Amino acid sequence: VTFWGVRGCIPTPDEENARYGGNTLCVGVQGPEGTLVALDAGMGLRWMSDSLPPGPVELHLLLTHCHWDHIQGIPFSPCMYSPGNRVHIYGRRPSAAGLKETLLRLMDPAYCPVPNFFLLKKVGADVEFHEIEEPDFQVGGIRVKSLPLPRGRRGSPSSGYRLECRGKVLAYLSDVEYPPGETGEPACPQALELARGADLLIHDASCLPEESGCPGGHSNYRQAAALARQAQVRRLALYHHAPGRTDEQLDELARRCQALSPPTFVAREGLELEL
Ligand SMILES: [Zn+2]
Repeated sequence: VTFWGVRGCIPTPDEENARYGGNTLCVGVQGPEGTLVALDAGMGLRWMSDSLPPGPVELHLLLTHCHWDHIQGIPFSPCMYSPGNRVHIYGRRPSAAGLKETLLRLMDPAYCPVPNFFLLKKVGADVEFHEIEEPDFQVGGIRVKSLPLPRGRRGSPSSGYRLECRGKVLAYLSDVEYPPGETGEPACPQALELARGADLLIHDASCLPEESGCPGGHSNYRQAAALARQAQVRRLALYHHAPGRTDEQLDELARRCQALSPPTFVAREGLELEL
């Protein structure tokens, strides 16, 4: 598992964000037999793409939702515009417009300088869209479960993912806002189902508990830790850092986490873990 982008909302290429990283969201997963997965496709996907082996690749892109910080790497990632590559994009229907139609807008020449590889057959990767209707499906050697997660009143629900392979489990829950009364224990049932027994839970911690008026649609580290405890997770990674959160403030968050159970760390761009 490699963290390629850990920053929520907007990229933050400032010196004071440089250690934890300023690219928007993307986590790469390398499964057995070369199965390649990217969880979200923020600007981190651009750099994950550079790390891929030469020659045609098959990539499974699992999107939580279509807000910019989760998709803006798609037009700028070499893996998307290299002919011979095959890219499967999974996600729930974002609105009345389908997943493909929504992402096509991203490639409109009014917004985007890159030739539209979604439409032009001879440009770019062969892209297939998969709107998630059934929660359980298979990508290469990895079993996936996806469930919709609550997002407060923000309108655009987020999909959470559980990836299982050879007895190892990764849970990925970004952009989740638990309804009042479900923020501690018992946890939200969908979140619990995805996280149960995971070797690693990557969870939104955009807000701090003491921040009033933190943008809706997100969680804090206490909520993430409460879920991790109840789901008996082995390790917890705090993720989707607020754009204004400096390296020093994230160091402070890491200090607070030292007392938490299960072992908890603050996700940092470039960090690589073996499950
Ligand atoms: Zn986000």
